[in-house]
Amino acid sequence: MALAPFYERVYGALGGHLAISRESLESVLGRVTVGIQLGSKPNDNEIWIGSLATNLVARIYPKIAITGDTEVRNEYKALAKSINPDIEFVDQANATTTIGIGEGNLKDGIYPSASGWVAKLEGGPRTWNGPKNPYSSGVAACLACAELFRRVFVGSTSNNEVAVSLLNFDKVTGAENKYSKVDIGDVAFVGIGAVGNAALWALSRDGAVQGNVDLIDAELVELSNLQRYVLTSNADIGKPKVDLAKAVLSGSKIKSVPHKLNLEEYLHPGETLETPTLVISVDNVDARRAGQALLPKMVINGWTGEQALGASWHVFSRNAACLACLYHPHGVGLSAIEQAAKALGLAVDRAAQLWVTKQPLSSDDLKVVSHALGVSEHELAPWKRKSLGDIYTDVVCGAVPLNVKGVSRVEMVPLAHQSALAGIFMAAELIKRSHPKLSKIAQDEPLVSWDNILQPPPAIWGKPRAREPGCICGDKDYQNVYKAKWGSAVKPRSRRG
Ligand SMILES: [Zn+2]
Repeated sequence: MALAPFYERVYGALGGHLAISRESLESVLGRVTVGIQLGSKPNDNEIWIGSLATNLVARIYPKIAITGDTEVRNEYKALAKSINPDIEFVDQANATTTIGIGEGNLKDGIYPSASGWVAKLEGGPRTWNGPKNPYSSGVAACLACAELFRRVFVGSTSNNEVAVSLLNFDKVTGAENKYSKVDIGDVAFVGIGAVGNAALWALSRDGAVQGNVDLIDAELVELSNLQRYVLTSNADIGKPKVDLAKAVLSGSKIKSVPHKLNLEEYLHPGETLETPTLVISVDNVDARRAGQALLPKMVINGWTGEQALGASWHVFSRNAACLACLYHPHGVGLSAIEQAAKALGLAVDRAAQLWVTKQPLSSDDLKVVSHALGVSEHELAPWKRKSLGDIYTDVVCGAVPLNVKGVSRVEMVPLAHQSALAGIFMAAELIKRSHPKLSKIAQDEPLVSWDNILQPPPAIWGKPRAREPGCICGDKDYQNVYKAKWGSAVKPRSRRG
């Protein structure tokens, strides 16, 4: 079987979500053939949907059947092969595991489509000739891959129509909306991980957007990143992530400057962030809180949790949660210490002690951790003298792939389509909030999320969030600095019911 060279990572992600053994996963992947079926004369949206669907599918499934328009088919095959050089192409797949785009006649197929700002998923074919839009097209591809994943691994099939407008998260708004120009201004884009990759995938295909973007990320592309970074191919391993991002944007009207640095290094000591817009999708809570504390005029955030994903937007003077509120110890989700404790099987107070003192884990701790992760103590030997923070980042957040055999591994590696959806939501927020007319239509809630990717998409995406008591946004000094920096031009909008 043509398992991807980064299969270890695929197992890490799927094993964590499904509690499936390595053997069962290999056997499921050996049996399933995924189809990508493109109708004749595909329009831009259809080509984008097919392209991202192929991109995501090639990161999990070793056997695919790509059919339809010859020219595009060859492009898709080359794309799949660049991701998994060993991928196997076959002629046909079952309808139930086929993503059909445009015209078609599959019974029980998965049919994503897009028009303007609306993405749809249906049980039968639909050809939309509405305005082209890479964001809704990308979302449609992710919705299709999520449905495919549930059919293959969860054994559930949903034939309910799904429709989502990226403008305000109802089902219809903006399906006919064509826009000709958006200026995102000066943007600090922090984090070119899986979420950032998908955001750039969409932005680079948007011919209407212009702006100046500082790309900020210190890391290089690693083999394990291929499991869910949609900009990466096998040939990119070892390249700086920011260089990859710059190359992708080079065909667009966005001017970008790569900075192979993390956020703390990007700003000199004592320097404040003068860039008005911060787009952030880093893998740690501290950098997000720090990002908000730098008081940019607007923050756009994209994130994945265990089975969740989402995006949020924040204007500090607005009477709604700021980004730091979302990551406040009493805010949404667990603190890093609680997450580490949960993932590694340690008691929270023990984890807190280890976290704060940075002392290495005791042999008793390592026993607990090896049990929780389903690996031998021997395999954890490299972390014997390291701190809890290190082991958490390396093992759980997935910087270091481990050969894990157990079925009970607590793993937090997101699925490819989960990260991609978060990234495209993040990019859509950036576009909307930078465009006066679109921002008037956009949802008022600071947060949109899908809380469990193994379930069908939510009926209601927006989550109202009030400010957290004790957060910096309730602090007069911070608010005064913000006002002095950006003036009072940013007016809080009235709440809609
Ligand atoms: Zn706050």
